[in-house]
Amino acid sequence: MQEFSTAIVGAGAAGLAAAISAKRRGTSCVVCERLPKIGKKILASGNGRCNLSNEDLSAGNYNEGSKGLVTSVFGKFGSSAIKDFFHGLGLELVSEDNRIFPATNQSSSVLKALELEIEKLEVPIELGFTVERIESGNKGFFVVSASGKRISCSSVVITGGGNSYPALGSDGSAYKLASSLGHTIVPPVPSAVPLMVKDPLCHLAQGQRIEAKVKAMISKEVVAQSCGDLMFTKYGFSGTAILDISRNVSIALNRQPSKSVYLEVDIVPFIGEDELASNIERAARDGRPHEDVLAGVLPLKISAALKWLISVGNPAIIAKKLKSMRFEVIGTRGWNEAEFTAGGVDALEVDPVTLGSKIKKGIYFAGEVLDVDGRRGGYNLAWAWASGFVAGTAVPR
Ligand SMILES: Cc1cc2nc3c(=O)[nH]c(=O)nc-3n(C[C@H](O)[C@H](O)[C@H](O)COP(=O)(O)OP(=O)(O)OC[C@H]3O[C@@H](n4cnc5c(N)ncnc54)[C@H](O)[C@@H]3O)c2cc1C
Repeated sequence: MQEFSTAIVGAGAAGLAAAISAKRRGTSCVVCERLPKIGKKILASGNGRCNLSNEDLSAGNYNEGSKGLVTSVFGKFGSSAIKDFFHGLGLELVSEDNRIFPATNQSSSVLKALELEIEKLEVPIELGFTVERIESGNKGFFVVSASGKRISCSSVVITGGGNSYPALGSDGSAYKLASSLGHTIVPPVPSAVPLMVKDPLCHLAQGQRIEAKVKAMISKEVVAQSCGDLMFTKYGFSGTAILDISRNVSIALNRQPSKSVYLEVDIVPFIGEDELASNIERAARDGRPHEDVLAGVLPLKISAALKWLISVGNPAIIAKKLKSMRFEVIGTRGWNEAEFTAGGVDALEVDPVTLGSKIKKGIYFAGEVLDVDGRRGGYNLAWAWASGFVAGTAVPR
């Protein structure tokens, strides 16, 4: 049986950062990864570009319940430390509107830099090792694989991620490990996820992208809003404007199912309501067919799909409707299309300085497995690197 000071569960962003920081301090550690390769989600991130951090990592960019943890961790390992870490690995970075990317614009460069450091430090990686149980052992713990392999260690860092994109490795099994050790799991819900609405317009205009202003409403209250790319799909909406507001919608749908959740969408944000009304009036006066009345303000697929609206007749009412179209949300596209998980191991059960468990001594957590989720824009990977680094530094040698 192999023996190490620390076993790290999961070779994603948090696990690799934890391994590097632990080994640099001289802690003998091993990384157990269920997939045949490490860092699969890093490769998929940012559409292959990997938006790996953000210049502004203030706690307001993360969920309310995580503020203490986030402030403490970034206080120790913030945006500059993350940049220095990657510079130290020989990776050049560029910043775009505060979002930080590898200068190569390729996530594979990020993974390569991490792999080279792991190799240099001679951190063993056990591939195809799904940690099924963590048992108490003579040294502290036994980390036990699904096939019965056992590793003896005095501490364990759980960095198995959340529930999102299970094909990339994180299948929720880290939550089972945490809860078997006595931890509370804040119910995980998909976040940064396309939304499903029941409206023939989406189906008719599928594939069409526009710029739009989107408000997420729960029982008449605006809970999130965004402006940007909106894509019509067969089932509803995708695009950055939707992904940005989807967290609040998903939480409401999953945790408050009795409330009605809808989107109010301005599909013509570049024009005021009065000007739009005059534009419609003029087009109608010119005798344009209904499907062409909106042809000058909306892509043809959408203007044709909205020809029924023109029969309302009153340009002011039509303009008002286009500035605030209402769509009832009936669900999200679920884990296979969610970039992050909202929810996870309760942040209050973890020491904000070490990320050690307050429930089971010798257990540490980092990354998405914790109930910490940030906005889109590099905040989630920043959390994974920083929390991984802090936990790896805190584990006993
Ligand atoms: C498509 C996509 C694009 C994204 N783009 C960005 C972006 O540009 N910027 C950004 O900030 N964030 C982005 N994210 C989110 C970000 O990638 C994640 O928040 C981050 O990678 C989480 O890192 P992690 O190490 O905590 O978990 P993961 O990366 O999920 O790693 C967990 C690892 O643990 C392994 N594992 C799980 N359970 C076990 C077990 N029981 N035993 C052994 N191994 C186990 C998994 O196989 C996996 O390798 C994106 C996510 C997706 C899905």
